[in-house]
Formats: sequence, C-alpha cells, structure tokens
Amino acid sequence: MADAPTTLVILGASGDLTRRLLLPGLGSLLRIEPDRHVVVLGADRAEMSQEEWKQRVSDSLQEADVQEEVAERVVGAARYQQTDALDPQQLTDLVADVPGGLVIYFALPPQVTVGVCALLAEMDLPEGTRLAMEKPFGHDLETAIQLNEQARKVVPEDQIFRIDHFLGVNTVLNLLGLRFANRIFQPLWTAEHIERVDICYDESLALEGRAGYYDKAGALTDMTQSHLLQVLAMFAMESPASMDPDEIRSLKAQVLRATALWGGDPVTASRRARYTAGTIEGREVPDYTAEEGVDPERGTETLSQLIVHVRNQRWSGVPFVLRSGKALGDDNKQITVTFRAPAHIPDGLTESGAPDRLKLELRPGAVALDISVNAEGDPFDLEQKELGTPLGQPRMKPYGEVLGGILDSNPLLSIRGDTAEQMWRIVEPVLDAWRADEVPMEEYAAGTAGPDGWYEIPATD
Ligand code: NDP
Repeated sequence: MADAPTTLVILGASGDLTRRLLLPGLGSLLRIEPDRHVVVLGADRAEMSQEEWKQRVSDSLQEADVQEEVAERVVGAARYQQTDALDPQQLTDLVADVPGGLVIYFALPPQVTVGVCALLAEMDLPEGTRLAMEKPFGHDLETAIQLNEQARKVVPEDQIFRIDHFLGVNTVLNLLGLRFANRIFQPLWTAEHIERVDICYDESLALEGRAGYYDKAGALTDMTQSHLLQVLAMFAMESPASMDPDEIRSLKAQVLRATALWGGDPVTASRRARYTAGTIEGREVPDYTAEEGVDPERGTETLSQLIVHVRNQRWSGVPFVLRSGKALGDDNKQITVTFRAPAHIPDGLTESGAPDRLKLELRPGAVALDISVNAEGDPFDLEQKELGTPLGQPRMKPYGEVLGGILDSNPLLSIRGDTAEQMWRIVEPVLDAWRADEVPMEEYAAGTAGPDGWYEIPATD
C-alpha cells in the first residue's frame, strides 16, 4: 500500500538536470522507499508526447532497479503537460487540481525561475505547497535577497527547499556522525588542536562539453560559493541536541555568519587559475580557452582557492582553505584536518617531521588518520602511518536523499534562505576583486597539480 500521493511538478522537464540528476535521483529513492506515492508531472516548453515522457521516467526507474510493480504505478500516473511557465494561464492550468500535496521543482534557467515565482505569488496554491529551487540562488547578495523575498511571497520559508546535492552525499553527512558520536574527536575539534583545515574538491575531469554553463560560472561560483561553504558549515558547527532540521540549519547559519575572508582582504585571501593544454591519464586536453563554447574574454577561472576563517571562540585563527578546480592530475576530493604539533616531544625521540592529519575522503568515501608511530628498526625513530577505513556505500544517489527530504517536508538537507545570502556575502568581495583584475589569473597545465605555492597561508596583521 503506497503513501498518500504527492504531485512533483517538474518545470524544465526536458532539460539536462531533469534527465541526468533528478529522474535518476527519484529512481534511487523509490528503489529504497518503494511505498512513496509520487505523481511525476513534467512540464516544459518543448512538445513531448505522454508516451515519450512516461518512457523517460520508466528508463530512469529501470536503471535504478526499482521494483517492477512500483515502476508500473509511478509510470502509469506520470504525465506531461506542454507549458510555458511564464504564461500565467498555462501555469495556473498546470497546477490546478493536482492529486495530493504539491511540490513545484524549478529545473529552469535561473532568470525564468524568478519570473515564475512572481506569477505563483499571485496564485492560490494548495496548502503546504513546497518549492524546490536549484542553484544558483541569485548571482550576488542583492539578487539572492530579491529571490528569497520573491519566493517567500509564494510560500513560507520552511516550504522552500534550496537544493545542494552535496548535502545528500553520504560522506558529507558522515561528518555529523564522525564529529558528534566519537569522544576521541570531540575535544580535538578546536583551534587549540587544529592548525588548518583544507576542503578540497579537485577534479581530473575537464570541461566535458559543459562550457555553456561553466564558462559563465567558473570554479568559485560553481563549487566554493555553494557546495564547499556548506561542507565548511557542517564541519565547523556546534553540537546539536538532535537531528532537528531547524536546529541544524541554525547552527550552520551561525558558522557562515561568522565566516570572513582570511585577513579581511579578497586579494590575499584568494587565488585563481586556468588550465592550459596538457594530458590527463593519456587523454589530450586542449587549452581551456580553446574549448568549444568558451569565450576567453570572460576570463573564467577553472581553479579557485579561497581562505576564510570562522570568527568565534572555537575556530579563531584557524585558516580554512576552500579549493576546487578542473583538469587536475589527481581527483583529490577530501577534507584534510592538520593538527598542531604536540606541546612537547621527549628528548631522544626522533620526530617524523610530518603533522598528524585526519583525512576525510569525500569521493568515494574513507576516513584515515595519519599518526606518528615507531619506524622500522630504531624504536625511538618515529614515522607517519595511516589508520584508515572506507565508508559504507551510499544507499541512494544524493539527489534521491534530497528529494526524499522535500517529499517528507523535511528541510534538513536543503539550504535556508539566510544561509544562501551569507554564502554570497562571503564570496562577493572576491568576485569583485577578480573582475577588477586585482588578483592575477595564473596558469597550470591540464593534468598537473595546479600552480605552485598555493598551500602556503598568507600572513595576516
Ligand atoms: P536546461 O537548459 O538543460 O533545461 C532547462 C529547461 O527549462 C529547458 O528544457 C528549457 O526549455 C526549459 N524552459 C525554459 N524556459 C521555460 C519556460 N518559460 N517554460 C517552461 N520551460 C522552460 O538547464 P539545466 O537542466 O541544466 O538547469 C536547470 C536548473 O538547474 C538551472 O537553474 C541550473 O543552474 C540548475 N542546475 C543544473 C545542473 C546540471 O547539471 N544541469 C546542476 C545544478 C544545478 P528550452 O530548451 O526551450 O529553453
């Protein structure tokens, strides 16, 4: 027996996000939670037959290995309605008389989302209607505030789900268990013991045909402004009493409110670079500016680094380095916590020379601790050894986790409006400094580790 129905209206149903992420995410959710009763109502400007839409839904469910009878039920109820979402009458017709609760998912270009919100604000929507919004949430602080105001004219804040699929990644969620269920780490999670934290998401993938989106966004906006600041908030927040969404989202917001550029200066706190031609695992990668669809005049970075600090008692003085880029030699997607040196090492022991480190690998998922132990031979000669464990496989795709939260009206895994604004507040001075060319655009050959010298933390006054 399936749950009460929810109608998931997907605006932009023939787009890339729906095909690559949303429908597969729904499939992975239904495989684990087959009792969910979801009516998938696709809407887009494109002409599409009912059969074609049902086939798309069916393919995603099949690929996710959803039970046959569940897939039949969901595909049977799915329908498509050709709609220009900016046409008030067509939009009204789309959401009128839908069965069960209503979720409106904006898989639309950002400027269209703003227009549709303005129309929805004038309409009578069913009680409890939820909005699911994709990033970017505005393109700077001012537009983020405007978008929030517009969306809150449609439904209250706790019915607005701003999507960040990183929050559905099991290894990011693992931060909560690791931090708050292990006595061994709790007392160490402070500036007294931690020297620096590196949150890194280096990809060996290059542009992979996504110039249309990426060349307008760049590494800082694509990754750091959204995903990496969310990871920082999960890493640095205070301990919650429970998994209550209000509490956890407030604790994350508290961190982001306290977050500021290292040294207060966007020029010294940030670095940017762009890849030139190179080779990655035997693959020839062209110069970024020669990639199809790239406009070199935009000056888009493919690697960015931002150093911030969290201005509170727990973290004062600890640099958090947020780095992400494309076409790098290694897929280095991990949080590295570097601990301070012990206060005293007994005379007669030879140090390993390397600090103790906790490494939280985000993809595919592992935890490892580098500690000083006896080396081979002389027992007083120390060396660094790794204790580690892989993490369990995710039960579903990150989009499945996030979608499950929306269908349950549980905002734990979505971004609250004030937080979306804070994330722009943090990066906006950097984007301004880059536009004014105050930070040089460095270069690195594709397949390398990026420019030299980025690991050092600049001194502050
Ligand atoms: P696409 O351009 O592939 O899809 C958007 C769809 O919306 C298109 O089918 C488009 O139709 C349709 N559309 C445009 N205007 C209207 C309208 N007035 N009424 C109805 N449909 C309309 O974009 P994506 O799927 O890539 O992105 C969608 C959103 O998701 C964006 O906000 C993006 O930033 C975000 N996002 C995307 C990710 C991705 O990997 N694709 C990842 C994270 C976020 P038409 O082709 O006719 O214009």
